[in-house]
Formats: sequence, structure tokens, C-alpha cells
Amino acid sequence: MRTKYWIVDKNVDKLENFPQLQEAADLLRKNEVVAFPTETVYGLGGNAQSDEAVEKIFAAKGRPSDNPLIVHIAKKEQLTDFVDHIPQTANILMEHFWPGPLTIILTYKEGTLSQKTTAGLMTVGIRMPDHPVALNLLEQTGLPIAAPSANRSGKPSPTMAQHVKEDLDGRIAGIVDGGPTGVGVESTVVDCTTEVPVILRPGGVTKEQLEAVVGEVLLDPALKDQKETPKSPGMKYRHYAPDAPLYLVDGTKEQIQALIEERQQEGLKVGVLTTEENQHFYKADDLYVCGRRSQLETVASSIYAALRSFDRAQVDIIYSEIFPNTGVGNAIMNRLLKAAGHKMIK
Ligand code: AMP
Ligand code: MG
Repeated sequence: MRTKYWIVDKNVDKLENFPQLQEAADLLRKNEVVAFPTETVYGLGGNAQSDEAVEKIFAAKGRPSDNPLIVHIAKKEQLTDFVDHIPQTANILMEHFWPGPLTIILTYKEGTLSQKTTAGLMTVGIRMPDHPVALNLLEQTGLPIAAPSANRSGKPSPTMAQHVKEDLDGRIAGIVDGGPTGVGVESTVVDCTTEVPVILRPGGVTKEQLEAVVGEVLLDPALKDQKETPKSPGMKYRHYAPDAPLYLVDGTKEQIQALIEERQQEGLKVGVLTTEENQHFYKADDLYVCGRRSQLETVASSIYAALRSFDRAQVDIIYSEIFPNTGVGNAIMNRLLKAAGHKMIK
């Protein structure tokens, strides 16, 4: 299949300024799958009501079929098409964080979406992305659009159209290139079917931000303890992994440099994931400067590009600094731990 490619300027947010999106919207209405930018990462969209479209998403990604997809909408009114009851906490969260990087899990109205979208669960995850291109495209289709990250399953999520091309060129109908995404990590997934909301996946909206508007918010125990079964099916899979083994190092710069030298003496090519503050310290074969430690948002926005860059550099082993578990640091550490298969050197 030849993948179509459209370039749009996300800085122009009037409907009439996106004529190119009409072709993309038409393909989505014909149950083809199209990648598009959101404020978190690029999504691979397909009609959430169509078995055919959703099958194409799973096939293009190589995604396990028990991992449900997040449904993207452009207007809050669409919600009642596939959700029966909206609890008060969900309403407050939507009021504050939509459009934005927050996915809300609600009880699903059976038969209103493809069963493949929800992986047969009684609940559905829904979000309204905060990106003019995404919103415009969703609006033009008039459909609920299922959209997981537009990468091959297991690989780092795409934050640029080029990343989507690397993984999915020839496997999908089209790619809308709207430039680099902003937040850089996926949405926070919060379960609102329980009295106290529970974070199933940390992401762009922090626990602190959620608590500021709805009071107590819990963390799925599986986020802290690997022995627990996660409530979010996708969280059990290894994700985001670069080709070379990645080790997180809970230690000083000196300890990391010592590790680099040991591996180099064994003849290995060593990559290091560091930050602006520490970049001049290391003598590695490949160094990726991933934002500023003092501003964790900058780390989040480049973490996936960092993980992908080591594949291109063809290093044999990667060491990464760790980050504080506060604010968006929670999401960064969650993704790094998964990418590392939980390998941590203390
Ligand atoms: P992705 O589409 O790759 O961003 O991943 C979506 C994440 O949301 C995965 O971890 C899914 O397992 C999770 N998710 C989607 N729908 C549900 C649901 N109904 N209940 C729990 N987790 C969900
Ligand atoms: Mg994903």
C-alpha cells in the first residue's frame, strides 16, 4: 500500500485552513487508517465503530488484541453516544482538562462501538485531544476515532511524522504531518468508574493536577509493584524499547562514567541518555541530551526521540540517568522503566 502524506501547519487553527485534511477524513470514513498529530504523540486513527477499521489498526501496529484503544472525540456531546452514565468526578475532570492529555475510563454502552475497540471490556477510555489538526480531523469525520500511538507495538511512541514513517510507511493509508508533538508522553489514563478515581497510566496530566480539582486520586497498585496485575491491559506489555539493552542508573555521574568505561573496555559501543545540565560530564560513544532536568516537561517532550536515536546510532548498550517521581517525572520514569524492562542499577 502506498501511504499518502499531507503536511499541515498546526499554527493555523481555522477550519477552512485545513483543506488537505478532507482527503484524510474521507479515508477515515471509508474505514482506512490514518496517522495524525495530537498534543501528546502521533495517533493511528480509525473509525471506532468499524471492525474493519479497528482490525487494520491492530494489524498495522502488530498490537495484541486484548489491549483496548482510546476513543478520540471532538465534542463532549459525542460521549453520550457510547456512555450511559457520566459520574460527577468525570464531569469535573473533563471541564478542567479537556481538550487535553487526559483519558477518562467510563462504563460502556454495549453495542455502540466495535468490540475490537474496547477489547470486549465493559468500560471504554475516551479523550479529547488538544491539537488543532487532530480536532479538525475528528470534526470532519464526525466519527469517534480509535487512536493508539502510531508506532509498531513495543517501539517508542512517535513524536514526529518521521517516526511514524519509520514504523508504518506502506502499512497505513496516510500520515498527516503537523510537526513535532508538544507534551511528548501519552495521556494520563484515569478510571472514573470507581468512587475515588484511579490513575491506570501516568501521563501528560499529573496526579497533583488531578487532585487539585477532584481531591483524592489513587494510583493503580500495579504502577508501583510489578507483581500486581495492571487494570489497564496495555500496561502489562513491554513497551518503548530501543534495540540495545537499556539500564537506568540510580547513581552519581561518576558511577555512570565508570560503567561507560567498563563497557568500552569490553569493546562495546555505549549510549547515554542525559540532560543539558550533565551533558559535558560523560565520555560516551553516543550521547542524547534529553531536555533540562530543572524542567521535566522538556525531558518528557524528547524522551521518545531519545530512545529512537539510539537505534540509529547502533549502540550496544544504553545507560540512562533517572528522574524524580514528581509531576510529569512520574510518566517519564514509568516509560523509562518499561523501555528498560525494569533493569535498574543502584
Ligand atoms: P495507547 O493506545 O497505546 O496509548 O494505549 C492506551 C492505553 O489505555 C493502554 O494501556 C490501554 O490498555 C489503556 N486502556 C484503553 N481502554 C481502557 C479501558 N477500558 N480500561 C483500562 N485501560 C484502558
Ligand atoms: Mg502506545
